[in-house]
Amino acid sequence: MKKDVREANVVMAKCKSSKRPFGIRIEKRMDNVWYYTWAFKLSEQAGNNEGYENVMISGRVDMDTEYPGCPYCGGIGWISCGNCGKLTCYNGESNHFTCAWCGNSGEVQFGETFDLSGGGY
Ligand SMILES: [Zn+2]
Ligand SMILES: [Zn+2]
Repeated sequence: MKKDVREANVVMAKCKSSKRPFGIRIEKRMDNVWYYTWAFKLSEQAGNNEGYENVMISGRVDMDTEYPGCPYCGGIGWISCGNCGKLTCYNGESNHFTCAWCGNSGEVQFGETFDLSGGGY
């Protein structure tokens, strides 16, 4: 029984406005429920060095009330790209979304459960 041990990880995201990368800290609090708690500026190179590109999260992801939003534009959420699987910040301003990583665009779709991946999953 490892009751109080919290699993935490960092996934890479990019800002839709500035196209600059940042890290999102996520924390596992219950079985298959992750909370994203913090966002911080991070260069792509530094993220690669830390292996954040390869972080993969499965299950449900919820926002912690402390989450400060995108460090560049303040966007409080993010979208996982259906094409490359990477994250781009999002603040709910429209139903249209353009991936800051690969340029894929389309309608925003929300799901209860999804897989996050920083790499070529
Ligand atoms: Zn942003
Ligand atoms: Zn993409």
